[in-house]
Amino acid sequence: MRTTGDQQLLKRINRSVLLRLIRSQPGLSRARLAQQSGLTKSTVSALVRELLDEQWLNEASAPVAADGMGRPSTPVRLNEDVRVLIGVEIAVEYLRMVCVSLTGVVISQSEVPLESTEPARVCVQAARLVQGQCDGLQMKNLLLSGVGVCLPGAIDDDSGVVRFAPNLGWRDVPFLDMISSAFGDAGVPTTSIHLQNDADAAALSEYEFTANEGKDPLIFINCDVGVGAGIVLNDRLFSGAFGLAGEIGHTIMQIDGLLCSCGRRGCAETFIGSRVLGTSAAMQRAGQYLGVLVQNLDVLFNPRTVILGGKSCIDNPSLIDDANQTLATYAELGGVPISTLRAARYGLLAAAVGAAALTLHRFLRPLSPGSIQRVG
Ligand SMILES: [Zn+2]
Repeated sequence: MRTTGDQQLLKRINRSVLLRLIRSQPGLSRARLAQQSGLTKSTVSALVRELLDEQWLNEASAPVAADGMGRPSTPVRLNEDVRVLIGVEIAVEYLRMVCVSLTGVVISQSEVPLESTEPARVCVQAARLVQGQCDGLQMKNLLLSGVGVCLPGAIDDDSGVVRFAPNLGWRDVPFLDMISSAFGDAGVPTTSIHLQNDADAAALSEYEFTANEGKDPLIFINCDVGVGAGIVLNDRLFSGAFGLAGEIGHTIMQIDGLLCSCGRRGCAETFIGSRVLGTSAAMQRAGQYLGVLVQNLDVLFNPRTVILGGKSCIDNPSLIDDANQTLATYAELGGVPISTLRAARYGLLAAAVGAAALTLHRFLRPLSPGSIQRVG
């Protein structure tokens, strides 16, 4: 029978439903999977067979006692020992790469200075780095499931075009196409390639690789020279009409304040950006303004989880303490529950790990835009 495009999509959706169930409840049996997914037992059986053959899953070597659903069953789990993801962070001064398991365990990491900010040269350098990693994976019999790339800029999710990356000096660069070709030229094995803004990617490092449910809406605030946020809302990244949502460093906190890098005055960046954190008094003030910023986000999104990351927060935990204190004061005055901020789980690796998480995030959401399946 000829399989049509719609049937292929339906199959991908059904596979993703099963993978998400198995990820949140490792060891489910096929019978339980059918019960919880609403799919027929024969569909579950066929899809699980396929996922086992492709090494997304593995199963116990022998059936275990019945779990209240009849005959003994064989539990299935994500195949963490075989399938891996690669994440690449392109920053203004360096390239950082990580290789992680399907559950977010960092297997390897590396960082090299960025040789040039010219897009074509960045592609060649990143491709060389990824190709070297792929050789290592082959020797360990690990299977690559996707490469995610992130950078500091606004990205059009549908086309993979970097609309605007001021710190790299880029405007309207078709970067996903370019890096995909560079991977081909460097001999990177065929795989799916994804592109995302760095703060958005960092949000996914927490969203995809933190086990507990109920973390949505999630906001990841990246504090460095600039201040940006990645927002996960209703199980999707919220990037806005032009990929600019979350540029919270440019929310105005003071009328006629200091001049900001963006041309406006009194932006959050002029209080919190790393360039103004020279003294302990400035640091304390930055913590308070960070608390104000989170308070304002709290009113807008009522998030369940707010994470603070980026070099400023990782190097200066007092920033997080001061922000928490400020936030608690507002909560008390407003008579609302106190939200708690915490530091990024992956520290300075958050964006790179998040880029790797992006590949899984999109694989598990077949209707999401923005990936290239490169034909090798
Ligand atoms: Zn600004």
